[in-house]
Amino acid sequence: MDKKQKKPRLHSPGTTARAASRSKTTHCFECSQVCCRTTVIEVEAPRTLRDHSDLLFYLYHFDTEIAIADNDGQIEWYVEFMSPCRFLSGGRCMIYDHRPKVCREYDMETCEYNLPERFTYIRTPQEFFEHLARHGPKGVLKRLEKTHLPPGGYPTPKSRTRRTRINRHLKSR
Ligand code: SF4
Ligand code: SF4
Repeated sequence: MDKKQKKPRLHSPGTTARAASRSKTTHCFECSQVCCRTTVIEVEAPRTLRDHSDLLFYLYHFDTEIAIADNDGQIEWYVEFMSPCRFLSGGRCMIYDHRPKVCREYDMETCEYNLPERFTYIRTPQEFFEHLARHGPKGVLKRLEKTHLPPGGYPTPKSRTRRTRINRHLKSR
């Protein structure tokens, strides 16, 4: 896919004030290691038909969702893949002293678990169309409906019994 992707950026500056106003931060030992169970890629905010088509493509895959972050007025788009890290075991990092920089920089004070209110999640193609109907460019919506939406709507996808812990966890919030 030739879509321009930024380097993974798992948390953003500018949330410190909101974090400071929060009364209690959930500690990593109390959460189910949301950050180690998800890979997050920041993408450009969609503008063109192609951008929206690419985001739909992501959403056609199980255990993938879009998160839109409101970072104190700065809107950022992320694609989240619900795939746990292979080095997470028993709720702990097996390579803690040698973990990647992005893991070292991730801050529980401003993480997705502790600041859920700044995220809007889009979890299915249907939700994507609904979001577009409310917020998207109407021209793109019309063209997307014409060229991407099957007549009568989407078929029911094959059932999938395995649900990741992270997906259950985020949905319950
Ligand atoms: S940084 Fe946040 S998401 Fe990650 S384990 Fe700690 S509390 Fe959970
Ligand atoms: S390397 Fe360790 S800290 Fe980083 S995602 Fe994997 S388990 Fe989590």
